[in-house]
Amino acid sequence: MYTHSLKDFDSDILASIKREQDRQETGLEMIPSENFVSPAVLQALGSILTNKYSEGYAGKRYYGGCEFIDEVETLAISRAKQLFGAEHVNVQPLSGAPANVAVYFGLLKPGDTILGMDLSHGGHLTHGHPVTYMAQIFNFVRYKTNAEGKIDLDNLRQMALDHKPKMILVGYSAYSREIEYEKIKAIADEVGAITMADIAHIAGLIAGGQMNNPVPLFDVVTTTTHKTLRGPRGGMIMCQEKWAKAIDKAVFPGFQGGPHENNIAAKAVAFKEALQPEFKDYAKQIKKNAKALEAVFNAKGYQLCFGGTDNHLLLINVFESKGITGKEAQIALDKAGITVNKNMIPDDPRAPMDPSGIRLGTPALTTRGMKEAEMKQVGDWINQAIINAKDDAKLANIKTEVKELTKKFPLYPTLNY
Ligand SMILES: *Cc1c(COP(=O)(O)O)cnc(C)c1O
Repeated sequence: MYTHSLKDFDSDILASIKREQDRQETGLEMIPSENFVSPAVLQALGSILTNKYSEGYAGKRYYGGCEFIDEVETLAISRAKQLFGAEHVNVQPLSGAPANVAVYFGLLKPGDTILGMDLSHGGHLTHGHPVTYMAQIFNFVRYKTNAEGKIDLDNLRQMALDHKPKMILVGYSAYSREIEYEKIKAIADEVGAITMADIAHIAGLIAGGQMNNPVPLFDVVTTTTHKTLRGPRGGMIMCQEKWAKAIDKAVFPGFQGGPHENNIAAKAVAFKEALQPEFKDYAKQIKKNAKALEAVFNAKGYQLCFGGTDNHLLLINVFESKGITGKEAQIALDKAGITVNKNMIPDDPRAPMDPSGIRLGTPALTTRGMKEAEMKQVGDWINQAIINAKDDAKLANIKTEVKELTKKFPLYPTLNY
C-alpha cells in the first residue's frame, strides 16, 4: 500500500508548509481570531479519522463501522458540556459561519426578523451583512454601541419593541467589551424573542472563566473552536435541551453532510486542554496582555474604539490618531513582521477596503508565552511602524528585532515534517 511520505511525494506542498511554518515562527501574529494549536491537536487533526463517513449522530448513524467514531464524538460533546455548562452540544458544524446558518434555519422561518449588532460596531458578516445570502432570506435589523463604547441597551430595547424580532443576537468580531447577557435576556423576554450568542472570538476566555458565560442563560450559543479556544478550525452549537432536536436536524440533514470526525477528535483534544487548570492562566494572561497593550497605545495618543478593552482585542482608530489609514497601517506592520488586520471602526466614514482602523489581539502571542514586558516592546514597535509607515529601512529594522524576540519564544520546536 502507501509508502510515500509528503517529503518523498510532494516537495511543492511541503515547501509551502515549511515557508508558512517559518512565517508563523518568526513573525508576531496579532490577528485576534488566530491562535496556535498544540501538537496533540495537530495529531488528531491529521489522523485516519478523516477516512470515515458517519452521517447522523452517535448511536443513530447512516453508515456501519461507526463504533469508534461514536466514542470520539461523544467525548467531544461531554467535554464541551463540562467546559461551558451546556445542556446540549452539536460538534459537527464545519466552521463558525455554517454553525450560525444552521441556527437561523433550525429556529426561524424565512422572512423572520433578527436583531443584531451593527456590523461597523463589531458584528460579524454572518449576522446579516448585505453581501451574505442570509440577508436575502431573513430580515436583519441593527442596534449599536453608545458614545461610551458600550452596547446601547436603550437603543437595543427600543429596536426590539419597534421590530418585534424572533431572535436577538449578540456576539462580535471587533467589539472589545464585556457583554451583560442578563440585561439582553430580559429585553428578549419582554418581546418574546429567542436569545442567541455567537462567542466565536471569546469562547476561550469564557472557558477559562475570564468573561461572562451566556450558555446557562441563552437559548442557543454558537462558537468557532479555532480562535481563543485554541482548537482546530471548526464550529460548535450549544443550546438548551428544548432546542436540541431542531438544532441537530438543522445541522444534519438540514444543512451539512458527513461530519469531519478527524476535526471533531481534534476539538475533543482542545476541550481537554481547556479543562486543565493551566488554561485559566492562559485566558487570564491573554487579558493582561491586552491591557498592557492598551496602556502603551493610550500613552502614545491613540484613539481606542469602545474606550479600551475587557477582552483579547483592541480596535484602534489609526486614521484619527496618526493620519494613516487602516490599510496603510496593515501594510507597514506587515513589513515590520507584525500581522494585524485593517478594520472598520463604528460608523466608519471610510470604505471597508481602506477603513480607519486596525484590529489586533493577544491570543496567539500569549500562546507563545509572551507576557506584559513583551507587550510593552511590541506596542512600541507597532507605534514606530505606524509613525514611520513610509520608511522601509526603519520597518526592516523592526522586522529584524521582531525576529530576535520570536527566537526566545519558539513555537513548534518538535514539529518536523
Ligand atoms: C470568526 C467568526 C465567525 C465565523 O467563523 P468561520 O469559522 O470563519 O466561519 C462567526 N461569528 C463571529 C462572531 C466570528 O468572530
